[in-house]
Amino acid sequence: MREQNELYIDGAWRVPIQPSVLELNHPATGEPTGRVTLGGEADVDAAVTAAERAFISYSRTTPRERIALLERVLTEFDDRFEDLVQAVTEEVGAPLPLVRGAHLPTARVQIATAIEILKTYEFTETRGETTIRKEALGVAGLITPWNFPVLQPVGKTVSALAAGCTVVLKPAELTPSSAVILAEIMDAAGVPAGVFNLVTGRGSVAGSALSAHPGVGTVSFTGSVATATQVAIAAAPTVKRVTSELGGKSPHILLPDADFAVAVETAKSWLLATTGQLCSAPSRTLVPRDRVEEFLSVLVPAVEALRVGDPRAEETFMGPLISAEQWDIVQGYIRRGLDEGARLETGGLGKPAGLEAGHFARPTVFSDVDNAMTIAQEEIFGPVMSVIAYDTVEEAIAIANDTPYGLAAYVTSGDLEAANAVAERIRAGYVLINDTDFDWTAPWGGYKRSGNGREFGAAGLGEYLETKVIRG
Ligand code: NAD
Repeated sequence: MREQNELYIDGAWRVPIQPSVLELNHPATGEPTGRVTLGGEADVDAAVTAAERAFISYSRTTPRERIALLERVLTEFDDRFEDLVQAVTEEVGAPLPLVRGAHLPTARVQIATAIEILKTYEFTETRGETTIRKEALGVAGLITPWNFPVLQPVGKTVSALAAGCTVVLKPAELTPSSAVILAEIMDAAGVPAGVFNLVTGRGSVAGSALSAHPGVGTVSFTGSVATATQVAIAAAPTVKRVTSELGGKSPHILLPDADFAVAVETAKSWLLATTGQLCSAPSRTLVPRDRVEEFLSVLVPAVEALRVGDPRAEETFMGPLISAEQWDIVQGYIRRGLDEGARLETGGLGKPAGLEAGHFARPTVFSDVDNAMTIAQEEIFGPVMSVIAYDTVEEAIAIANDTPYGLAAYVTSGDLEAANAVAERIRAGYVLINDTDFDWTAPWGGYKRSGNGREFGAAGLGEYLETKVIRG
């Protein structure tokens, strides 16, 4: 059982000013796993005050000093790798191979990349008598979701620290343990007091207070569109910068010559392995009308062969959803798909046999989906795929773009030139062709309601900088 009774503020662990507690449960069994304390408005204020104080000296450190700091953070991260693996599996219910192979390496690469970028980053440009300086923006308020609870906090934190900003992190309620380990890593690495602060707490209380706080210079938010709107409203009176990384309804276009074995791998890697709980999940699959039945004959057996089960078992491919609430949401969408006339190919309502205790959903495929249906328009955040038929590539591109979102997209084709031509016309921040992996150091972010701003790598660092001109 994990007992977390303290927040990390100004270089020390402290009990909240008005403590309250949240019980945590294992997504695979529903059994209690621990308790975490919830910070309130006064704790956020203490953390921001500490971060403002620390900013005075930390923002004046040299890139070389920040490289040395991040190198120590990387060493400590590697030392705590296995602790983080256990925490993420327990909190999210993500299978161990996914945590070891994706959750943690994608976070680690953020630290290593920040170090490399700092070695050559041009913070100053001189043009005759004009000097253009990129300076640390101020205190960064970081608000993160539960689905990738190491990548999001680490990615934001190292970009902010590399820029010379100080940080107050408010992680998701359901995933405090990995954030607590991150604070322990920062402490062990000798990050100066006040430079990194952690306030676990409810979004509506601690997250809201952080968004509104006048001492915060920028809020970097990852989560849902509904919450992003609240954050932006709370931040507006102080005119602080807000960057948002939000949800998606990412299309996967199978061009007429697509190899379906490759397409199925894309669905497994980016939709099903995470139980659909990935912002960039390819949840709409666009298939040439005359090849839909052939595609389903390859897809459905592959989906039915997936091992759904306890995330702690090494052979498990797909774990549970994170919570009973998330399970109810996913069931609601499956019911909606049935009610609106989509054809259920596999999966459906209820839990897989033998997995009744946890928040397990059945991997589900719908065909005969019209892009106007709710299951094709709204982010489900569950293992539910909509197969949508198209007649021409022009129509496929139009369907792909016919959503309020624009985070990611996928194209499968034997003809790379054709795939690239389609990729250029999709309004999304990231397009993957032929089941390749994401480059997690490239700019990450969305078009339209999938957010604004970019994170990771040099683009991420740039979000924490302000521009100043000195002339004379
Ligand atoms: P959420 O919006 O419910 O919560 C995100 C964070 O906001 C949490 O820390 C929460 O406590 C906090 N919060 C809640 N109410 C708040 C308020 N009023 N003010 C300030 N903060 C508040 O999202 P979630 O359910 O944790 O995560 C799932 C969502 O995140 C999905 O929509 C997913 O697509 C999105 N996501 C996007 C990316 C990306 O990079 N684009 C990555 C991961 C997840």
